[in-house]
Order: sequence, then structure tokens, then C-alpha cells
Amino acid sequence: MPFTVNLNKININKLSVVFTWDDNESRQISLIAPLFRRYNIKCTFYVVPGENGFREGVEGYSQIANDGFEIGSHSFSHPDMTTLNNDEANIEFIQSSEEIFKSINFYPLSFAFPHHYSNETLIQAAKRYYLETRNTLNNSVRISIKTLSEKEALLIRLEEEIAKGHNVIFSGHSIITEEEFNNGGKGEGYEPSRLSLVESLLEKIILYNKNIEVITFCQAAIKEYIKLNNLYENDICVFDDNSLNYLQKLNIDRHRLIQLL
Ligand SMILES: [Zn+2]
Repeated sequence: MPFTVNLNKININKLSVVFTWDDNESRQISLIAPLFRRYNIKCTFYVVPGENGFREGVEGYSQIANDGFEIGSHSFSHPDMTTLNNDEANIEFIQSSEEIFKSINFYPLSFAFPHHYSNETLIQAAKRYYLETRNTLNNSVRISIKTLSEKEALLIRLEEEIAKGHNVIFSGHSIITEEEFNNGGKGEGYEPSRLSLVESLLEKIILYNKNIEVITFCQAAIKEYIKLNNLYENDICVFDDNSLNYLQKLNIDRHRLIQLL
């Protein structure tokens, strides 16, 4: 039996802009999620259940997952996965997924390779467990937001990519406030993004929103899946048995589809 869903939370005709944040940094819960909430948009957090900060963050991650933020997998222990054998790599895919599910009651649907290191074999393996990996979304580019990233340069780059018809995936770790930055502080985590820069990106993007929408990575991935398989007409999406089976194997059941779409 086909399954029909009205597309309320994504727009098939818009390009996707996604913000992703890695490595269980505590400001993801205390600063980043509240910032995105203020704009009424969602982002994606790639967590590492076997590393510091995950346990402490579980309550917060669980809460924001219930509100529609995405908690994706960034492996179990953050190794360079290109140095692992097949069994070791599979453990990273599976153990992180199970641990995230046990902790927050949502299976992670997308995967971000630690350090962005991957290869074709690893990507194919990841897609046995996850709908998509951060660096392989159809028609997308990734732009990292580092501490010294220039606002104007990022905005120009964003506009160029949108003009080329690309989905844009931003990646960062945590946040440094203006006060810390001006006082020569380090903020939190690896190359934290300046809070004011993220804020102005969001404001600019909201102005553009005729052609783009800010959604989570897994929403962007499902959108590309729906488009590539031609499963929609206007804002109605019809999943046939094949696609339902395929998605079910990736822990995306009908209930989850309704939550995401
Ligand atoms: Zn990382």
C-alpha cells in the first residue's frame, strides 16, 4: 500500500541550507540550539557517544530532538575511519547508532565522518545504516565556519553556491561570543564559530528565503531522495512499497516520515 504525506516542513522546490555542529560541545545545547530556536529553524548536531560530553549532554539532546533538531552520528569514538578494517568500521556505524537510540530514543539518520576522512568503500558501508553522509548529499557543497571566517566572504560564497543551484552544508563545532573574541579568548572546542557571524548568516538567509530553506541534514537528504525517485507531485509525496522498505531498513518508518516532512 502506498503511503501519502503532505509536505509541511520541507519545500521540494527550494534549495536546502543546513547547519551542522560536531563533537558534543556543551554550547550546542546552551547557545546554538537557543539561537536557532529564536529564528524558528532547526539544525543538526553530530554527536560521538563514546567521547567526552555526550553523557552530560544527553538530557539536552533528547529535549531538542523532540523539538525537531537532528541528532546525527559522528561515529562512536571519532577515529580516522580510513585506518580501520571493515569490522572496525561497522562497529563505529552500528555502536554509535545504538547508543544514540538508547540515550535519546531517536535513531540517527545521517552520518558525518570524523575529520571528513572517508573513501568509496566507507561511504557505501555507511549507506547500509544511514540515509546519507554529510559529504555526499546530492548537489551540495560544504562550507566550514571557523573562528576567523569573514562574514562578507561567507555571504558571497553562499550566494554563489545558491546561484549555481547547490545545497549548502555549513559545518562547525561550537561558539565563541563577541566578548570572548574581543578579549582574545578561545571560546569552546575546535575553531569555534563567532556567534555574531552565525546570527548574521541566519538573518541574511531568512531574507533570501524565496529560493532556499534552512532545514536539518536528514530533511535535506530525504528531500533529495524524494526528488531523485520522483515520489512527489506538488506538495504531496507518495511512498511506494519499495521506498518504504528501503527507508524502514534505515530506521525511517511512517511515523518518522511524518515528523520530518
Ligand atoms: Zn569531529
